[in-house]
Amino acid sequence: INIEDDGKLDLAREKLRTIFGFESFRGRQAEVVSRILGGQSTLAVMPTGAGKSLTYQLPATMQHGTCIVISPLIALMHDQLRAATANGIRAATLTSADADWRETMDAYRAGELDLLYVAPERASQSRFCDFLTSSPIALFAIDEAHCVSEWGHDFRPDYRQLLPLLERFPDVPRLALTATADQRTRADILTQLGIPQDGLILAGFDRPNIRYTIRHRENPVRQIEALMKEQPGPGIVYAPTRRKVEDIAEKLAAATGRNVLPYHAGLPAEERSANQAEFVASEDMVIVATIAFGMGIDKPDVRFVAHAGIPKSIEAYYQETGRAGRDGDPANAVMFWGAGDFAQARQRVTELPEERRNDERARLDMLDSLVETPGCRRAVLLRHFGEDPEATCGNCDNCLDPPKVSDVTQTARKLLSAVYRTGQSFGFGHIQKVLTGSTDDRVEQRGHDQLSVFGIVAGDEAEMLKPLSRALQARGALVSTEHGGLALGGDAPAILKGDQAVEIVIPPKANKRNGRGARG
Ligand code: ADP
Ligand code: ZN
Repeated sequence: INIEDDGKLDLAREKLRTIFGFESFRGRQAEVVSRILGGQSTLAVMPTGAGKSLTYQLPATMQHGTCIVISPLIALMHDQLRAATANGIRAATLTSADADWRETMDAYRAGELDLLYVAPERASQSRFCDFLTSSPIALFAIDEAHCVSEWGHDFRPDYRQLLPLLERFPDVPRLALTATADQRTRADILTQLGIPQDGLILAGFDRPNIRYTIRHRENPVRQIEALMKEQPGPGIVYAPTRRKVEDIAEKLAAATGRNVLPYHAGLPAEERSANQAEFVASEDMVIVATIAFGMGIDKPDVRFVAHAGIPKSIEAYYQETGRAGRDGDPANAVMFWGAGDFAQARQRVTELPEERRNDERARLDMLDSLVETPGCRRAVLLRHFGEDPEATCGNCDNCLDPPKVSDVTQTARKLLSAVYRTGQSFGFGHIQKVLTGSTDDRVEQRGHDQLSVFGIVAGDEAEMLKPLSRALQARGALVSTEHGGLALGGDAPAILKGDQAVEIVIPPKANKRNGRGARG
């Protein structure tokens, strides 16, 4: 489609101004709108805040018939409804929470609706399908389309039932929308919703003003305190559990004297919304939160997002860090990770149903490759989202201060054999003692000073043991046992046999300072 010559697009631009009050399309909105007006099914992958809703709302106001919007969250639907109605668009929702469903159905039959929002569980019912035939449909918009993919992080079986509905209306174009879709999820969406391969529109995921930094976690409170000193302004700290949220919030407040408040699902509703409101209004408050925080929050001047533990996936990391610097000014995203984070996450994978384990393991491996890369963090992120970025960005820790990469294959073999020979039940401290030849009661009692691996690591090599053990845990070659000991896993056999080399990243000494300010 030639956007310039498309008369419909001129009309769309006019409506953009008159209905929505915007001067111009943003990003790839115009392309999506233009495809939809041309009747071509499309998958639009755009980051949160890119303006996805407009890409179906605008065509809905221009076309004969109703746009059916399938959306998974009733609360989001009602937000959208309010916004659309405020713009003078004729819209309604049909959910279990709506008392006025009779009127809504009548309005639809009478052709009086531009937009009709429905939940997937309703959309997949055949009765609903029959009802839809009572009036012309202009478009199917499928919001949060990644829910159709089991590979996506938010699979919803009802989305799988949508294809039969869509196929009842083969001439109605489909617009699938999502903010988080890696290549596999995207391919799934195209197949599951019957959208042609060339219908994919991928908008830019880069957030150039965000500086990415990933550090090993030593003392999270002190590390975040240092970050707060270097980076004034509002910030979000994500912590993995409610207990950690409260603990970190309390200690940070005491250490910095700043306004630091907790947010998690276990707090009374009033306290939670009061803390959130205070954060949104504040110019220097820090909120410590579980991932429950942030959905639907529009605060453009968040100056940093810190992770006190690893996020669930690269998608989650991108989404959570994406809450920093929406105003376009410099902002920091700093993750503090620990080997135990990966060990625990990998342990949880073994408790999942068989058919989900491989996917979850792959997700962790990808997150690990982001954490352990000696190269550009941004490049890893953007490649993950299917883009083809420059090799270096100049605005992440590794680009600003390139780390050294060390081949530690021999040391890895020593470490893994020590774990094996001591019976795969001791923690890192014990293994380290055995390898470096230092004795204590336990080493002697167990006779570990008699093992062939006793004292085979010395000097500089001994310095490598800790970062190496971390890296092997992050990769899953070392896993933790129930009692906190280390055992062999994943690629350990290949490394022991000498079939696989092991390289690790040695952070530059200068990087002992954490979370440097985004002044560059
Ligand atoms: P998404 O669904 O992609 O997260 P939204 O549809 O909620 O994003 O839009 C995010 C914000 O951007 C909204 O406040 C919306 O009004 C605004 N917006 C959308 N399109 C434009 C545009 N072309 N120009 C300016 N603002 C826009
Ligand atoms: Zn970079």
